[in-house]
Amino acid sequence: MIAIAKEIQTAAYLFASILFILSLGGLASQESAKRGVIFGIVGMIVAIMATVLGQRVEGHIYIIGAISIASLIGIIVARKVEMTSMPQLVAILHSFVGLAAVLVGFGSYLDSETQKLIGAAYTIHLVEVFIGIFIGAITFTGSIVAWGKLDGKIPSKPWAFSTLQIMNLTLLIACIVLGVFFCNAQGTGGMLPLLIMTAVASFIGVVLVMAIGGGDMPVVVSMLNSYSGWAASAAGFMLGNDLLIVTGALVGSSGAILSMHMCHAMNRSFFSVIFANATASSAQGVEKKAIEGEVTSLNHEEVASLLKEAKSVVIVPGYGMAVAKAQYPIFDMVQTLQKAGKKVRFAIHPVAGRLPGHMNVLLAEANVPYDIVMEMDEINPDLPETDVVMVIGANDVVNPSAQDDPGSSIYGMPVIEVWKAEKVIVMKRSMSAGYSGEDNPLFYKSNSEMLYGDARVSVEKLLSFIKE
Ligand code: NDP
Repeated sequence: MIAIAKEIQTAAYLFASILFILSLGGLASQESAKRGVIFGIVGMIVAIMATVLGQRVEGHIYIIGAISIASLIGIIVARKVEMTSMPQLVAILHSFVGLAAVLVGFGSYLDSETQKLIGAAYTIHLVEVFIGIFIGAITFTGSIVAWGKLDGKIPSKPWAFSTLQIMNLTLLIACIVLGVFFCNAQGTGGMLPLLIMTAVASFIGVVLVMAIGGGDMPVVVSMLNSYSGWAASAAGFMLGNDLLIVTGALVGSSGAILSMHMCHAMNRSFFSVIFANATASSAQGVEKKAIEGEVTSLNHEEVASLLKEAKSVVIVPGYGMAVAKAQYPIFDMVQTLQKAGKKVRFAIHPVAGRLPGHMNVLLAEANVPYDIVMEMDEINPDLPETDVVMVIGANDVVNPSAQDDPGSSIYGMPVIEVWKAEKVIVMKRSMSAGYSGEDNPLFYKSNSEMLYGDARVSVEKLLSFIKE
């Protein structure tokens, strides 16, 4: 009977693993994303049921009670959260995975069953516990700092001091030494080095994320996603749960691949971001270039007449479009301009907004056809021949200092070269800086005009003037 139950559980785990792989495959494109999410939900239900109803599990009533309360909280939070707060939610959920790995590690170390292991099996178990807690603690505190930075509770400016790398290396070596003490201790005598290592790893998590500037946060978010996967995988080893190992490895490796893509998109080195080696030259003491020029602005009527005269228009959306929920009136405006015979396209920067693919999701929500949505590399060569570029709630992704100011923290990041167009209209509420905290010399260029106001309100006003 026990053997049959084990077989059923293994089959259910295999089925859930396949569903998770199909889910990841589905999430690769917007058309199949919904199907991917459904595969993920079904896989997770199968995984939870197979685990809870499996052998060696007692206290079902408590488990069901905990799952019900947690599910209710999850549903309420997910229904309430605004699209603009999604990155913070993702970051805080990563922290839960890290915390879970730390708790599983301590539980597993103190478990009387594991104390009965001997020889190599016991040493391997201790290494699993140590590594699991190490990754879990970094993920936990790193994700909390990332949440604070994304939510604006912690300044996005990077921590930068010359001995940062030496300090990180010293802390890492200290953890390795503590690991040796831990593995050589008898019984539960390794508790003290384990606790010290947990404190040190928690501090490393804080430092790693604090050292990253706002502009590089997308890579950090996907790196923490990857770490949370490895933390789950480590917990799977400690609990002897194959499904957790597989699922954690899927999340860990897909997060690492996403991070590499993000690094490529931002012209950053993968390793310098993982080791919090602030790539920003400003961190290395290079003076920022002084901004020259004068800021000029237009009113809605003037911008509408510019648009009426233009033959080609490119729209660059950013985080402000998400905040203002301006994608719907923007698409109305695009259709009106297209009907008047103008060539209108969107230009999407890979890190615009606060989530990978943020702008694509919002435009898809407003039913914007994919064929007018261009990637940064596709649109940049066309910008010198474009009459009007409308920058709607974007800032860092159109900041020329990324190309010409080695003192800027976003120096080296590829940007949409909007200033090469004949006219640039920047739609935002004030002169405030972008997420990186860097001022934007674009606003001071002679072919650039500000159009102040909330993006949605401004687009609605423009639309009414264009239709007149
Ligand atoms: P930014 O955050 O650089 O700028 C957004 C601008 O929108 C602000 O300057 C703000 O100016 C304006 N804004 C805010 N609300 C409104 C509104 N209601 N109406 C009009 N304008 C508004 O955004 P970008 O998209 O250009 O750049 C994204 C930044 O976020 C990059 O630095 C990126 O690295 C980082 N990031 C990206 C992540 C990702 O995965 N995509 C994750 C984490 C960080 P004002 O207040 O004057 O209106």
